[in-house]
Amino acid sequence: MNPVFKETVDFIKSLYPNRNPIPLHEPCFKGNEKKYLEECINTSYVSSVGKFVDAFERKIEEYSGAKKAVVVVNGTEALHFALKLIGVQPNDEVLTQPLTFVATANSISYCNAHPVFIDVDIDTMGLSPKSLISFLKSNAVTKKNECINKHTNRRIKACIPMHTFGNPCRIDEIIDICYNWHIQVVEDAAESVGSLYKGRHTGTYGKIGVLSFNGNKTITTGGGGMLLTNDEELGSYAKYLSTQAKVNHPWDYYHDEIGYNYRMPNLNAALGLAQMEQLDYFIDYKRNLAEKYENFFGDKGITYIKEVENARSNYWLNAILLRDREEKEDFLKYTNEHNVMTRPAWRLMNNLPMFINCLKADLTNAENIEDRLVNIPSSVI
Ligand SMILES: *Cc1c(COP(=O)(O)O)cnc(C)c1O
Repeated sequence: MNPVFKETVDFIKSLYPNRNPIPLHEPCFKGNEKKYLEECINTSYVSSVGKFVDAFERKIEEYSGAKKAVVVVNGTEALHFALKLIGVQPNDEVLTQPLTFVATANSISYCNAHPVFIDVDIDTMGLSPKSLISFLKSNAVTKKNECINKHTNRRIKACIPMHTFGNPCRIDEIIDICYNWHIQVVEDAAESVGSLYKGRHTGTYGKIGVLSFNGNKTITTGGGGMLLTNDEELGSYAKYLSTQAKVNHPWDYYHDEIGYNYRMPNLNAALGLAQMEQLDYFIDYKRNLAEKYENFFGDKGITYIKEVENARSNYWLNAILLRDREEKEDFLKYTNEHNVMTRPAWRLMNNLPMFINCLKADLTNAENIEDRLVNIPSSVI
């Protein structure tokens, strides 16, 4: 047994002296959560209309700089909705990374489109611009402002890069490549609320960006998601489609298109607003914790994954790389048996039964990360 494992457990226990077992990530409610929830109940505005829905959206617009934020039921549906809004059609191909939460790939399948897996960069753990360009050069052509996969003859309509564990990927390069190839970008920023790349909020580079407020994320609404866009017209259209395509009128019920009920209830938005008020505190706390981890692992022969140049990570989940798969398994076993919750990276999407036949590029980096990565406790307390 590597003696560093015990040192690591002791170190993590010193960071969370009052938790046993130590969770990977738990929510933190230290602000106006109770007050706002009580206000919902006292005013009876608990459902899909109410001032917290608007206040939460405006707060996220202000924080992220996105022209329009549209709150929805969860991040998974936000991704599905975003793909629909940018015009992904059945049989299209959508490029994404294999190292992600399953929702990213599922959202492509909901559109009856085909996920295509492109490798990640080893340092950002997000979609690799190099891998993207090399895939397109050998597999795609542009015709009449569309990108076509010349082997399958299918249209490559969209690309979904993801900011893994809150670490921004090289999103500006990805945007440039996709622009040149007539591919729309939906940014999966589900894990990266508050993370910046070149000073700009993640999720605001693509045509649409998606946030998640699930219970394990940096801020939570219990369950919830958000679309971000700088296209105000598209944002307004998204709001209207997400509210049953109801034409605005004080009493008349008229719908002029097939809409959806993707609305987030006021109760959840109340929680969201209270959480947003603490986001800067959460991120300061997390960045401080990240620095402690980085210093701890510095001389221990375990790689701590840091933000890259130009990136400011929210450090949602801290991540380390062990030497190989075997050492990773040993580390997971040791830490979990000693009440420190740790977890491996997601299984790569291309190896899941429903995506096993999907097209993929060379995935050396993703495979390397899958073999070696472990997430370690990262809660704000
Ligand atoms: C959490 C997450 C989602 C889905 O969000 P939900 O709100 O849980 O539906 C999508 N993509 C990634 C990368 C996530 O981490």
